[in-house]
Amino acid sequence: MEKHTYTEIVSPMDFGARFPDEESAREYLEWQRWGGNPVCPVCGSPAKAWLRKRPGLPDCYSGWYKCRYRKCRKAFTVKHDSIFSHTQIPLHSWLHAIFCLLTELKGKSARQLAKRWAKVKSYKSGWHLGHRIREAMSADKKNAMLDDDVESDESPFGGKRRNKHWDKKSDNKKTWAMGMVERNGGKVVFKVIPDTSKETLLGLLCQYVELGSTVFTDGCPSYDKVESLGYEHHSVIHSKKIYVLGGYVHTNTIESIWRIAKDASRAVYHRPSPKHLHRYLDEIAYRRNNKTTEVPIMDALAKFIDLCWGVSLPWDKLVPKKDKQNYIQELLSV
Ligand SMILES: [Zn+2]
Repeated sequence: MEKHTYTEIVSPMDFGARFPDEESAREYLEWQRWGGNPVCPVCGSPAKAWLRKRPGLPDCYSGWYKCRYRKCRKAFTVKHDSIFSHTQIPLHSWLHAIFCLLTELKGKSARQLAKRWAKVKSYKSGWHLGHRIREAMSADKKNAMLDDDVESDESPFGGKRRNKHWDKKSDNKKTWAMGMVERNGGKVVFKVIPDTSKETLLGLLCQYVELGSTVFTDGCPSYDKVESLGYEHHSVIHSKKIYVLGGYVHTNTIESIWRIAKDASRAVYHRPSPKHLHRYLDEIAYRRNNKTTEVPIMDALAKFIDLCWGVSLPWDKLVPKKDKQNYIQELLSV
């Protein structure tokens, strides 16, 4: 891959001039999605502009299209069936928030995203906006397979017991995540895991690492049977203060990525809750895998926008309503 310099990256000011209003952002998204030929998202037939702006009439229909197929006639906009579905936030605000999350190495908090970048009124809107962007980033790891030299490790996430509220101190359970990375600038995959048992770790290793690869781990006994699965296995035992063997056997690459993830978790996102942790980790993995902080931002943006279609994260899915029956049982059991 060609080496890009930092001078090629446009600044937020340049980005603001490129997308000053909703119209410019909509036209950009339409071009990225359809390349000038709108297609019905329901039946796949060609569509035409619907009641487009006419002289003397208000511009209330620009951006609307209608399917040409006689039995469908679906009216839609570029937002349909995407992370932008049903959004009230202007599209240029979306692009500015995406710019921010693609270029900030350790992410951006929902408060900052809402106030400084997307300029939306509430924290809740900023938080939902950030998670929808992360949901599209998560789609990037669907078919990820790691090869050659792969380092694997697991790490706990969660706050300290002494900082917890008095009635939650008894439950100091940490959330564990597993990370696998290809050496020499290759891809990284994170997965939130229920435990660090042999079944969990080896199952994920088989899912994300090509057979025949060389796997480097620490001395965790769950990795003892890695060689029997068809991998070459080397390990360093950190508990005996051994961190590198022969200059080749180590897990320093994944440890350096854990550092970025832990910094983001502690200082930027302030200990994300276990049920949302996977999206924050996928965001960190996406930036590294696609080198979004290094390549020209318009290239990174175009690549990201390709992931936005067919993915959605409505509020009800992000924050599910408590199941009524479970809620009643919980009340009865107290
Ligand atoms: Zn149609």
